[in-house]
Amino acid sequence: MKVVVILALTLAVVSAKTPMIKLNTGYEMPEIGLGTWQAKGDPVKQAVKDALEVGYRHIDTAYIYENEKEVGEGIHAQIGAGVLKREDLFITTKVWPNGSNQKKALEMIHHSLKQLNVTYLDLVLIHFPRDDYADTYKGMEDAFHQKLVRSIGISNFNRGHIDHLLKTAKVKPAVNQIRIHPTHNDADTVKYCQELGIAVTGYSPLGTGKMIKNPTLVAIGKKHNKSAAQVALRWQIENHWITIPKSVNKKYIKEDFEIFDFTLTKEEIKTIHDMKA
Ligand code: NDP
Repeated sequence: MKVVVILALTLAVVSAKTPMIKLNTGYEMPEIGLGTWQAKGDPVKQAVKDALEVGYRHIDTAYIYENEKEVGEGIHAQIGAGVLKREDLFITTKVWPNGSNQKKALEMIHHSLKQLNVTYLDLVLIHFPRDDYADTYKGMEDAFHQKLVRSIGISNFNRGHIDHLLKTAKVKPAVNQIRIHPTHNDADTVKYCQELGIAVTGYSPLGTGKMIKNPTLVAIGKKHNKSAAQVALRWQIENHWITIPKSVNKKYIKEDFEIFDFTLTKEEIKTIHDMKA
C-alpha cells in the first residue's frame, strides 16, 4: 500500500507541469531546462533520458556543442518509452555566427533539425553577436516564417547589440540567453530585455560549477534544507529568469529540478544580488 502511494506521488510530481514563462510569440517556455554544453556522446544521451524521466521538459543544446544527434537520441528514446510526447518538450538550439550569413543560418537550422530528428524547433538563438549577426538573424527569420522554428532569439547580446539588431530585424527576439549566476549579473541587459518584452535565460547558473561550494549560498541553503546549487537556481526563478543548469549526473539532475518547493526571502534574494566575484 505504502509503495503504491509513494509511486503515485512520484508520478504526480513528474507529470506536474514545470512553471512556464510566456514568450512574446505566445509560446510557453519551461522555466528550467537541462544545459548540455561540454557533454557529448553516451553521457549526454543518458543525461537527457534521465532529465526527461525526472520531469524536465526543456533541453538546451547548440550547433557548436556537437551533441545534437545524441540529445535527439535521448529525446526519442523517452518518446518511444511513452514518457512524453514531442509537443510536451521545448528544444532550444543555437546557430553559430562565425562566418555565417542569412543562407548559412538557414542551412544550420536544417542541420540541427536533422541531427535532433524533429520537424520543428521551439527556439533557435544566435549564439553570439559576432560577424554580420543581423544578416545571420535574417536566416533565422526565414526559418521562423517557414514554421521550422516557433520562436527565435539571441544570446550574449547587450543593449548595443540589441539596438543594432532591431534596426533590421522584422521578428522581435523572444529570448536573450546571457550569463547569470550569483557573482555575475548583467543588470543593465536584463532591465533592457524586460523593457522590450524579451525573456531572459540565465546560462551557467552554477558558474560552470564554481557556485556549488560558495559559503553564502551554502548558508542560505541550510536554512531551507537545500544545497547551494538549488539556492543559486531558485534565485533565478525568483527573478523570473529561465535557468538551464548542466549535469550528466542523475543525482544532480534531480537535485537541480527540486527547486519549486521552497522560496527565498526578500533579504536572501538581495544578499545573492549583492554577492561579488
Ligand atoms: P552550470 O553553471 O550549469 O554548472 C555545471 C557544473 O556544475 C557541472 O560541472 C556539473 O557537474 C555541476 N553541477 C550541476 N548540478 C550540480 C549539483 N546539484 N551539485 C553539484 N554540482 C553540480 O554550467 P554551464 O556553464 O554548462 O551552463 C549551463 C548551460 O548553459 C550549458 O550547459 C549550456 O547549455 C548553456 N550555456 C550557454 C552559453 C551561451 O553562450 N549561450 C555559454 C555557456 C553555457 P556534472 O556535469 O559533472 O554533473
